Amino acid sequence: MTEVDLFEDETAILARSTEVLSSAAAEPAQYRLALADLVQSYGRLMRESRRLIARSDRTERELNLLNARLQQLSDELDHKARHDNLTGALNRGAVFERAHHFLKDSALSLIVLDIDFFKRINDEFGHPTGDAVIRELVNRLRKSLNGKGEIGRVGGEEFTILLREVSLADAVTLAEKVRAAIAEELFTCLPSRPVTASFGVSWSAMHSDFEDAYARADAALYKAKHGGRNRVERELQTKN
Ligand code: GH3
Ligand code: MG
Ligand code: MG
Repeated sequence: MTEVDLFEDETAILARSTEVLSSAAAEPAQYRLALADLVQSYGRLMRESRRLIARSDRTERELNLLNARLQQLSDELDHKARHDNLTGALNRGAVFERAHHFLKDSALSLIVLDIDFFKRINDEFGHPTGDAVIRELVNRLRKSLNGKGEIGRVGGEEFTILLREVSLADAVTLAEKVRAAIAEELFTCLPSRPVTASFGVSWSAMHSDFEDAYARADAALYKAKHGGRNRVERELQTKN
């Protein structure tokens, strides 16, 4: 394949001008002609360079915009992969990931809560009302936690609250506050009957196993269900 010389014309003009310059016997008219060629060629190169610079600036701006959009899409994708789309709470995978991360350098309290007799709500009022109850419940959790802890949805009507560096006693107090915030005011989406939830709470020392903490909170939740529901129970054996 023959290579295209992008500066074929300029190379020829330069060769002619060099020849005129090195020839001792060149006529003034030859100098003028060589200079005129050089001026024209120089002007054309400047115009071309300006056009190329402008185009490259435009391309750079477009690339920057595309990069920003790509980053935004990647953030959205990351958010979707870690959050439940009904409530915006962390999903099960993200809850476990966060908990393992926290336990690397902190103690952690865990609240597990489960809506009481939720199947009846679905059966009597329909699935969309059930969904609305789940959404409103998570909003109440957010409101009563007031920025403390991280809320997760780990099952259909089962939720967690991760509380970094919070003692078991404080976590139980907080769970009681959340329980009351759910039970003591009728839900807007279900004004005809109260919604309640049962709670289990556990505490884990730094570096301990989250699966074990989850099992202890779950056992406490089981106790709350069997003790009559709409109540908070703490883990049976505490380590703090
Ligand atoms: P308990 O007090 O013992 O927890 O009883 P429960 O009825 O709440 O528990 P059960 O496990 O019998 O029923 C849970 C129901 O939650 C069954 C399932 O259809 C429903 N469910 C799970 N995920 C969703 C959801 O995303 N939306 C709705 N509307 N219902 C859901
Ligand atoms: Mg339930
Ligand atoms: Mg359940």
